[in-house]
Amino acid sequence: MCNGEIIPKDSFKDECGVFGIYGDQDPGISRLTYYGLYALQHRGQESCGIAVSTGKNIEFHKGMGLVAEVFSDEILETLQGGISCGHVRYSTSGQSNISNAQPLVVKYWNGNLALAHNGNLVNAEELRKELEREGAIFQTSVDSEIIANLISRLDQGNIVEAIKKAMKIVKGAYALVLATRTQLIGIRDPNGIRPLSLGKKGNSLIFSSESCAFNTIGAQLLRDVEPGEIVVVDEDGLQSYFVDLPRKDKLCIFEYIYFARSDSNIRGKNIYMARRRAGEILFSEHPAKADVVISVPDSGTSAAMGYAQAAGIPFAEGLVKNRYVGRTFIQPKQSMRKIGVALKLNVLENIVRGKRVVLVDDSIVRGTTITELVEKLRIAGVSEVHLRVSSPPVTYPCYFGIDTPSKKELVGANLSINEIQKKLGVDSIGYLSLQGLIEAIGKEDNYCEACFSGSYPIDIPKERSKMAFAKEDFHVEI
Ligand code: SF4
Repeated sequence: MCNGEIIPKDSFKDECGVFGIYGDQDPGISRLTYYGLYALQHRGQESCGIAVSTGKNIEFHKGMGLVAEVFSDEILETLQGGISCGHVRYSTSGQSNISNAQPLVVKYWNGNLALAHNGNLVNAEELRKELEREGAIFQTSVDSEIIANLISRLDQGNIVEAIKKAMKIVKGAYALVLATRTQLIGIRDPNGIRPLSLGKKGNSLIFSSESCAFNTIGAQLLRDVEPGEIVVVDEDGLQSYFVDLPRKDKLCIFEYIYFARSDSNIRGKNIYMARRRAGEILFSEHPAKADVVISVPDSGTSAAMGYAQAAGIPFAEGLVKNRYVGRTFIQPKQSMRKIGVALKLNVLENIVRGKRVVLVDDSIVRGTTITELVEKLRIAGVSEVHLRVSSPPVTYPCYFGIDTPSKKELVGANLSINEIQKKLGVDSIGYLSLQGLIEAIGKEDNYCEACFSGSYPIDIPKERSKMAFAKEDFHVEI
């Protein structure tokens, strides 16, 4: 699972995590933000940063690496103030550099602004060109700078109005945390594709990509920020505004499958329970006669436990994860993937030798990791491997802030189920249906499930979609 994942798995790559506190001159704010980001580390491991408003200025520190590597006691001591904005970032090849680390901090006529963004704009390229033609100079290659640029240009003394205008110009997925000199602002795009929650600790109000960060710092989850909502926290308390655009509530379904931490709650639903239920439904859709159920740790574990319970087959740890592989292997380079897989997981021979095994994973993207794991299981002496996947075949790329390969690399987009079974070398294969997945999560809600159906909640500009379908390795920015 993405929780603590530090080696590239054959999966969609995590996005980014955003976090911010309005604590009204709380001296411990940078430390709480540090712990909040620590809890969101699974959403991005390549760079991170914290900006703090002192009431006069915005001070910040950011760097390449994990939260624990970038911040020290001394650095946190220098970040004193009452409003914070933090970010953890997963970037893509060519984009992993310090200038793209967030929060972005900009100065403009109405003050300073720190901005942390999770998501991706689908019209970023045309907006960037247009703004450059009008004289804007960009210092980074992240979409977030376009949002910061638009807000600062459109601000005529009322930042909420500027944000509303900017939201009518940008298209795509964004969960944003903004800190100004006196305000903390949380924003979700009108489709609500990326999550953002609101929490409370004493008198402090907090935004976080996921509620697991609230648990870590002893805060309580109040509610999710709504699609299209702008929540402003300042000395007058909390005010909520909505952009005047159609709102669809299309939360990314992959949050439930893989991205979010299992102790997070989104839309009032616990991620672990949803994954476990997905495993139960997977068994009802694709039963297997087997001696033991094992998972690809940690991503498939919750669903594997659900499957095992529904099947009445014991669950065991058949694959053991090395949790202490250094971050050398977080570099998103194709050449490192194989080394990463080999170092990451070992087979517990005593558990699987001579057994019929059900192997459960959350999703299959290229199929590379599973192929290698199946080979390892065969070498360890399994008699049968029945692969069960707790989501449908991934058949389309994502444009909304998730690093996905091109369509031609997606095994589910190019091969029939029988061909996938053959390619992966398993005795049987069963994917959870989209209906089954939605039943596990909650039928009453809407989702973006475009990577399974191709039905995108936002029109994708033709040039972008051509790129994604043709390029060898398409990466989106976050
Ligand atoms: S396309 Fe897939 S990964 Fe991207 S936002 Fe939609 S559901 Fe999530």
